[in-house]
Amino acid sequence: MSFTYNGLPSRVIFGQGTLSRVAKEVEALGCHRVLVLSTPGQEGRAREVLSQLGHLGAEVFAGARMHTPVKTTEEAMYVLASLDADGVVAIGGGSTIGLGKAIALRTDLPQIAIPTTYAGSEMTPILGETKDGIKTTQRTVKVLPETVIYDVNLTLGLPIGMSGISGINAIAHAVEALYAKDRNPIVSWMAEEGIAALARSLPKIAATPTDVAARADALYGAWLCGACLGAVEMSLHHKLCHTLGGSFDLPHAETHAVVLPHVVAYNAEAAPEAMMRIARALVANDAAGGLYDLAKALGAPLTLRDIGLKEKDIDRAMAIATANPYWNPRKIEANGIRRLLNNAYTGLRPKAMEYIDR
Ligand code: NAD
Repeated sequence: MSFTYNGLPSRVIFGQGTLSRVAKEVEALGCHRVLVLSTPGQEGRAREVLSQLGHLGAEVFAGARMHTPVKTTEEAMYVLASLDADGVVAIGGGSTIGLGKAIALRTDLPQIAIPTTYAGSEMTPILGETKDGIKTTQRTVKVLPETVIYDVNLTLGLPIGMSGISGINAIAHAVEALYAKDRNPIVSWMAEEGIAALARSLPKIAATPTDVAARADALYGAWLCGACLGAVEMSLHHKLCHTLGGSFDLPHAETHAVVLPHVVAYNAEAAPEAMMRIARALVANDAAGGLYDLAKALGAPLTLRDIGLKEKDIDRAMAIATANPYWNPRKIEANGIRRLLNNAYTGLRPKAMEYIDR
């Protein structure tokens, strides 16, 4: 056995009611006056955090938006400077946490991330930013939040539909970690455990959204899956989702939910060990079919058509996705990727066999 493992420095506080520790954590980072970040929809929650912080809170900036537009970051930076803030607290999903990271990149100020979805950005040194309609991604520990507070209570109100697709978004990180070029036993263990936790909890959440034990299990799984995304390189699935989101404006988490089973079918023959572990975590006969069945059971979208892709765009998506491919366990070839996109467009249950050229 031979591998390299890079540990990432972050402090994780996990539990129910842990938000009450935010002021202590701000102090522990040596901050005196932090800016609280949120999307417009979660401003109320951000204001509650501000009032909990007392004299340690400067103000709320509730302008976070999907795909971290540089213009929004500049607005937040202006507010930050005018208040003389010395740290940020981001409460929300990947969009809000992305804004915190973009500020940290430019200022080196400490960040506390308080996730309210399962997207996992809080555990990664990755930042995607959009300028003039173009999204670029970079990996640097400068953007990794110093402290992450997972509070199960904050996820109890995450709508059922979003819980399912956000959970599958998290599973996608772990799936690709299991066949990553730089995979290692620790990350693979986290990946399998993360998929299992989400696969057993998401159906319970769909039935009873306020099931605290299931919500805790899902958030635990999301943490592990986010850590996988932060630790190893992603492959075809993330490249395709990046292309479909960036060039065709498809919604982030929904795109992950639709595409994942088809990518897994495409990669199945080239990554048998990963397939066995994904299927085992899902308690399913095969990895691709099991992921499709989970998405279906959760009421997630199953076709690219339903989330806004036009049939005429399939060829262009294929061309963009194959132009500068990420490393992938199976060779990226145009016909296979076109077939994959066609299958994701129509939403048939995937079969690994159909991708094997004999
Ligand atoms: P999001 O942060 O855009 O949130 C979607 C909507 O849900 C927002 O309107 C938000 O206000 C609302 N919301 C969030 N939590 C809620 C809750 N508990 N209850 C009710 N409403 C809630 O969505 P997301 O899927 O978490 O994040 C997507 C973004 O994060 C994308 O831009 C993606 O690229 C990025 N991302 C980055 C990384 C990384 O490592 N850099 C990882 C994953 C995702």
